[in-house]
Formats: sequence, C-alpha cells, structure tokens
Amino acid sequence: GQRTGGSPTVKAPAAVRISPINNSRKGVMKKSSTSPKDGIVKRSQASNNVSTKPVKDCSGSHDPKLIEMINSLIVDRSPSVKWEDIAGLEKAKQALLEMVILPIRRRDLFTGLRKPARGLLLFGPPGTGKTLLAKAVATESQATFFNVSASSLTSKWVGEAEKLVRTLFVVAISRQPSVIFIDEIDSIMSTRTSSENEASRRLKSEFLVQFDGVMSNSGDLVIVIGATNKPNELDDAVLRRLVKRIYIPLPDATTRKQLFKNKLKGHAFSLPERELERLVRDTEGYSGSDLQALCEEAAMMPIRELGSNILSVNANQIRGLSYEDFQKAMKVIRPSLQKSKWAELERWNQEFGAN
Ligand code: ADP
Repeated sequence: GQRTGGSPTVKAPAAVRISPINNSRKGVMKKSSTSPKDGIVKRSQASNNVSTKPVKDCSGSHDPKLIEMINSLIVDRSPSVKWEDIAGLEKAKQALLEMVILPIRRRDLFTGLRKPARGLLLFGPPGTGKTLLAKAVATESQATFFNVSASSLTSKWVGEAEKLVRTLFVVAISRQPSVIFIDEIDSIMSTRTSSENEASRRLKSEFLVQFDGVMSNSGDLVIVIGATNKPNELDDAVLRRLVKRIYIPLPDATTRKQLFKNKLKGHAFSLPERELERLVRDTEGYSGSDLQALCEEAAMMPIRELGSNILSVNANQIRGLSYEDFQKAMKVIRPSLQKSKWAELERWNQEFGAN
C-alpha cells in the first residue's frame, strides 16, 4: 500500500511537525486495505482538502521514522463500513453513538457532566462485529481513526513498541478528535505475570502514562477503544481506565435472521419462512463470522452436485439454496466458541459490563 496524506513535514532530522490531516467531510472514499502480515490498516488515499482542525505543533524529539509508521496506521474515516451494515447490536450502537460519535460531532454539548469517557472496551466472543463497529464509528464520527493491532505492536516493533506508543498519542493529539482502536488489547495489557518480560512491562506502563495524559487534559479529545475476547485477562489498571465496557454478544435469533437475509441477498434460494426460522433456531451459538462461513459452505452445495458439468452449465441453471444445504453445511461448520467460554463472558459482563 502506498502511503499518502499526512506524511510529516520534516523540518530538521529529529524535529517533526505533523502536518494537518485532511478533514474533508466529502473526501473521496477509498477502501482501506488491511495487511494481514502486520495487521494494520493502511491509509490508501487521502483527500486533498484543507484541514479545518487545529493542529498543535508537536515538533520535538519525535523520530520521523516513527511518525511515518503511525501515519501508516491511520485509517481514513471511510473504512467503508456503515452503521446499517451491522446486524443487531442495537444496545452497543446506541452506547457508541452517545459515548463517541455525538461527543465528537457536537463537542460543544458534551462538556461538564456530559464530558465523554475517554476509554471504552468492546468485549465478547470473536467474530461478533467488534472490529466492524469500530470501523463504523470511524465512518460516522469523522474523527481521525487509528487502527492498531496489539499483537503487531509487540511482534513487529520489538524494542520500538514503547516509543511507538508515545508517538501514537502525540499524533493522535495533534489530529484530534481521534479514536485509537486497539484490537486484542489483552495481548499487550494482560495481568502482570512473573514471566512478563521487561519490554512488555515498559510498553504497558508507557501506554498508561500516555492514556492518563489525554484523560487529564480536558482540551484533548482522544478516545481509546480496546477490543478483546478475554476481558478477564486484562490488567486492572487498564480496566479502570476503560470505564465503559460494552458487551458484544453472540447474535440472538433476530440478529441471526437478519444476517441470513443479508447474506442470501443476490443468491437464488428457496427458504420458506418456516425453514428460515428453523435455521435460525439451529444456529444458536454461531457467531457472525461462523454464520458467514456457514452460508459460504451451503452455497457450494449446488455447485458440488454438478461434478464435471460445472464447466458447461449455464449460470442461471444452478439450483437455489435449500434448507438441506444449510443442514449439511452445519455438519462441517460448527460454532467456534465453546459453551463454557460463552458462559464465562456472560458472567464477566454481569460483573463488569455496562448493562
Ligand atoms: P470481531 O468481533 O472478532 O472483531 P469482526 O467485526 O471482525 O469480529 O467480524 C468478523 C466478520 O463477521 C465480519 O467481517 C462480518 O462478515 C461478520 N459479522 C460479525 N458480526 C456481524 C454483524 N453484527 N453484522 C454483520 N456482519 C457481522
């Protein structure tokens, strides 16, 4: 991915002034690409409008190389996920609207008692839409969005991770309002253990120091959103700072139905209401991504039947999907979350979640 927009203007080798982010509300929307290798979303395109955001001068001892790295972590605010693309999760959406989107868009109204929380946690089983939600928040809030995968912080920049975190916050402040999304936050912020090495201890405390910095300065609007499926492994010090904890549960029956309907759009299928309902009942315990895999598997059934005829068949002759296809697919695609883990998350939510 080519990195454009937001590359720093280097004044002197060690002193960097961060150039303003393009803050166009109508900028050309381009899809961001995720590099699976480093787990970061690269900014693929920046719009060329002039910023309206105040940008603080943060020239100082910030390494241009690190600033460049942070710029590569920046996602433009149109990662192409819209609110409507997310099935269900109404409570979570409402909470994010009140906690992040509105306070960013109407900063004047959210002061004093309405001052927004600066840290929140999305927790729940894998594949339930946490990343989708964070991306939609970026789209809706028009904030600068930093997508940081915790494991990439530790694996890729060993030794540099701590400096990188410091720079991340400097850039986030200069481009505020900002949302820093940290996926798999448990992997860098887990409970201190005796086996913990010095580097990860330093990384963790640097993060806390920086986070406290933005929390204590009421002029700064930098919101940290962590995501995890192991909330019970999080360090207490981190948990205390992520004051709002939103449970992103497995999809309930209504949501599963909606997901099936969305996924079947554009495909021929014959699923009378009664069979769709049955399918919805059968898939209790499936996550959003399990359902995606299930639909993909079911969609292959009519193709497999064709055998060698597949090369000559007309596209419109392929039969529609039926309940039986899903039933067969369910033998292959099982829910990925163990019941015990599910119960554990529910319990954690009762105790620590924002209910
Ligand atoms: P995680 O909770 O692990 O961050 P993701 O947000 O990455 O999960 O979701 C993984 C995939 O599962 C998505 O790309 C999407 O296809 C599907 N998915 C999960 N939950 C939903 C949902 N509520 N609405 C629509 N798609 C969903």
